Amino acid sequence: MLFGRTQKNPIKIADKGVVEWKYATCGYCSTGCSIEVGLNAEGKPVSSRGVAEADVNRGKLCLKGIFEHELFDSAGRGTEVKIRDHWHQPWKATDWDPALDKVHDEIRRIQEKYGPDAFAIISTGQMLTEEFYTLGKLTRGLIGTNNYDGNTTLCMSSAVSGYKRSFGSDGPPGCYEDFEHTDCLIAWGSNLPEQHPIIYWRMKEAQEKRGFPLIVIDPRVTMLAQNAHMHLPITPGTDVVLMNAMMHVIFDEGLEDRRYIEANTNGIEELEAEVAIYNPVMAAKICGIDEDTIRNVARLYAKADASMSIWTMGINQSTHGSDGVVGINNLSLVTGNIGKPGGTSLSITGQCNAMGTREWSSCSGLPNYRVLENAEHRNEVAKFWNVDPEFFPKKRGLYQTDIYPAIESGQIKGLWLIATNPMSSLPNTARVRKAMESLEFCVVQDCYEDTESAQYAHVYLPAGTWAEKDGVMTNTERRINVVKPIAAPPGQAKPDLWIFNQVAKRFNKDDKVSFPDKSADIFLEMTKLSEGRLADISGMNHELIEEHRGIQWPYTREQLDTGETPPSGGKRIYTEDASFTYSDGRAKLIPLPFVDNNEVPDEKFPFWLNTGRLIEHWHGRTKTGKLGNNNKYSPIPFIEINPDAAAELGIAHGEYVRLVSPRSDAVVMAMPTQRVAKNMIFLPFHFHDCANRLTLGLLDPHSRQPAYKQSAVRIETIADQKAAAKLSMEMRAF
Ligand code: SF4
Repeated sequence: MLFGRTQKNPIKIADKGVVEWKYATCGYCSTGCSIEVGLNAEGKPVSSRGVAEADVNRGKLCLKGIFEHELFDSAGRGTEVKIRDHWHQPWKATDWDPALDKVHDEIRRIQEKYGPDAFAIISTGQMLTEEFYTLGKLTRGLIGTNNYDGNTTLCMSSAVSGYKRSFGSDGPPGCYEDFEHTDCLIAWGSNLPEQHPIIYWRMKEAQEKRGFPLIVIDPRVTMLAQNAHMHLPITPGTDVVLMNAMMHVIFDEGLEDRRYIEANTNGIEELEAEVAIYNPVMAAKICGIDEDTIRNVARLYAKADASMSIWTMGINQSTHGSDGVVGINNLSLVTGNIGKPGGTSLSITGQCNAMGTREWSSCSGLPNYRVLENAEHRNEVAKFWNVDPEFFPKKRGLYQTDIYPAIESGQIKGLWLIATNPMSSLPNTARVRKAMESLEFCVVQDCYEDTESAQYAHVYLPAGTWAEKDGVMTNTERRINVVKPIAAPPGQAKPDLWIFNQVAKRFNKDDKVSFPDKSADIFLEMTKLSEGRLADISGMNHELIEEHRGIQWPYTREQLDTGETPPSGGKRIYTEDASFTYSDGRAKLIPLPFVDNNEVPDEKFPFWLNTGRLIEHWHGRTKTGKLGNNNKYSPIPFIEINPDAAAELGIAHGEYVRLVSPRSDAVVMAMPTQRVAKNMIFLPFHFHDCANRLTLGLLDPHSRQPAYKQSAVRIETIADQKAAAKLSMEMRAF
């Protein structure tokens, strides 16, 4: 196959002998790219390509998607069911039945001895939606623990909490097409080119055509900041101050949209009174952005016909994460920028199906944004599932970040980890390790058997991954897309859905509750439960979704019956003719007093530690650390350090240094760059036993999400560079 110039140095793409292409949705980030995996004559996945007619990615894939076919037979895949009495003993291979019996018996033993909530379940944003829904039914309807959460608390719970506080429900109002209509874009703590490369491409293409101003607010000169018209290098953790100051300018200069505010919101008086305190002169001293820039950005944003805000972990992973989201929503609401083309407040989600778990897992409540606190919701779901409504708790249980302290204190004795690896992903690894060691029983269900958390398991259940399974996922813009089985799970491994159904059989002794085997049937059950809800998917089915390469919710049965084509289904929610989810249909404007409660640098620990993602890797590298090309680009832990700071400390480019925080230490390579300020370092979070040895992870009071990006460290030089290199290599190893 030849691309580019045919006369001179044409680009040659190796012929891998593909005889068939199979469709799926990418299983890494929440962009939701449509992908096809090529199989050779032996049925082996050998290639990946983007799907041209899919609206999300229009034929493109990023570095992770392009190598996704290598996942199926990557190192460390779990192929055997394993069991042992204590976590420090060697594993014994076993069959599914004894292992699943043990899981059932241990859950019930712990619940009977210590109470129903003494057994906790932590799920993920990586499974398929039908699997989330089934796990939710099993947990809420049969097992009956309230300590059930997902690892999405580590990345998205501030967005969820902020949306709920402002609009009455979770659910991002906008879509990628908004880039094609907006007149001003603010990116708050979002580095699209590395975190969501294909969304970046959509944004960049729209921006090049229409030339709207791009304003990036981020303490670091990220790749997105390098491409921005204005970069505001804000002091970590002070976004709320900047938002309040912008609203101060907007009200002061009469730039707000009074008609929209009066028709659609409550709380304007209280908000105006709060932001009156935040004049730009005072705010500049706290957030580090000068007063003229604050005024300019406020005017640019408020005067544009349609303004859009996007954000990612820079906002969410903070002690003010939920407030930051509410602040962005406040700005959108006071300027009438919700639910209109180019005017929105769009949370760019993290994991491939973080949205699916938010909508359907029942982690924080009940399916389709129903809440445990509402008796009508409890009754509705109990009747639908054929369970006793009194079996449901009346308020949500612990978040993942509170489950670990509860293990430490002895309140929780047993744990089921599903496709998540807290030993790598939770802050303050030393505390997490102690908690894992203290569990009476732990079952790890994962497609990889070599995760750090699996070391502490008593039972290991090998699961299928991504396109070894059948179901749907929801992306950032509420688009549901399908994943079809491309390969079979290896060895004894089984799809997560099969595992949940087998566990359910053991709890569902009188067969009262129905657990369908086929994901298409489960999806149909979900469509019924969605009727009339915000996330109404009653007009969808697997075939229609695949045919259209994804459909955005809501898409109702009425829309299907009237022949409305799915792509127009649900581009935006909270449009002018659709009210907010609060009972009076109005959004809330919420005043946000700033409380400075972060860990901050001091004499002993003088550097801000900022953590984040690199384009090559995904989360804890459980997958990408084993894929040749992905790993080769970024194989070892390193820091970005300002060249002046490096010179003062006597650190040369490529030297190993020791980072020390009040928690622990880590050895990394130093890469001097002007991307970071002199009092800050940036450390990619992917490498195990590295970034989270250092982080404190103070929690947001509303969302319980940890502040991964605001810790304090010092940097020490290392005399023995050879030994340091060895240590650093150990951190990269699996
Ligand atoms: Fe996959 Fe995200 Fe890359 Fe698209 S942008 S190919 S969804 S990792």
